[in-house]
Amino acid sequence: MSDRRPLILVTNDDGVQSPGISSLRRAASRVGDVIVVAPTREQSAQSHAITLDRPLRHIEHETNIHSIDGTPADCVYLALFERRFLPRRPDLVLSGINRGHNLGTSVFYSGTVAAAREAAMRGIPSMALSAPPDADTEQLIEHVTQVVSALIEQLRAATLPVLLNVNFPRAASRATRVTRVGRQVYEEQVIPRVDPNGREYFWIGGRVMEGSEPEGTDAHAIALGYASITPLALESTSMEHWAIAAQIAQNMSLEGDMP
Ligand code: MN
Repeated sequence: MSDRRPLILVTNDDGVQSPGISSLRRAASRVGDVIVVAPTREQSAQSHAITLDRPLRHIEHETNIHSIDGTPADCVYLALFERRFLPRRPDLVLSGINRGHNLGTSVFYSGTVAAAREAAMRGIPSMALSAPPDADTEQLIEHVTQVVSALIEQLRAATLPVLLNVNFPRAASRATRVTRVGRQVYEEQVIPRVDPNGREYFWIGGRVMEGSEPEGTDAHAIALGYASITPLALESTSMEHWAIAAQIAQNMSLEGDMP
């Protein structure tokens, strides 16, 4: 990143109208030029889905604030590859501030994290940001400004496709720990019901189960009242299970033809 004012793409998964994205826009505007391209409606837990089976509609709400009736990943894809949204490739992509934490296995379900990952996959540094719904807005904007400034400072030395997952605690503390992804165990809950026409349907997904988070994880830091910052990897090959895969490949190849 050069010394010029950074161009920052802001998105989220709670929708363009959410309070969290306006807080993030305010914070980011203090350190860069901000353009918002966010989902028209809430897209929480859409993970990294992209929309391939229907057209995507665009609304320009005001100058530099756009919404797309798709997923968070759709928004980043369109912002990066359709020329009308950004004057140039952004220096940074920020996603959030999500209404509620994205800790542990939530990084797999989260649209907030996926939007940031979509940018990182294209070589653009990105940060997902999440906070409890009842966090103090002005304090949060202050802390977000600080964490984004600190990242921009790092990027002045070398622009890397770093993907960071940041969670803020409920209390207005800026003490921050670097963490690894925890477990964030949810109750595994299925509620079967019957609709007025006599057909059965289900609600899935339970509440977070408190406690039992190991030291050093994101959820543990949050439980202690710290902010948490986790560097996420794009590489998802498991070297831990390489030997199992190699054994299967060897068995398959014993009597197989060489390609
Ligand atoms: Mn959300």
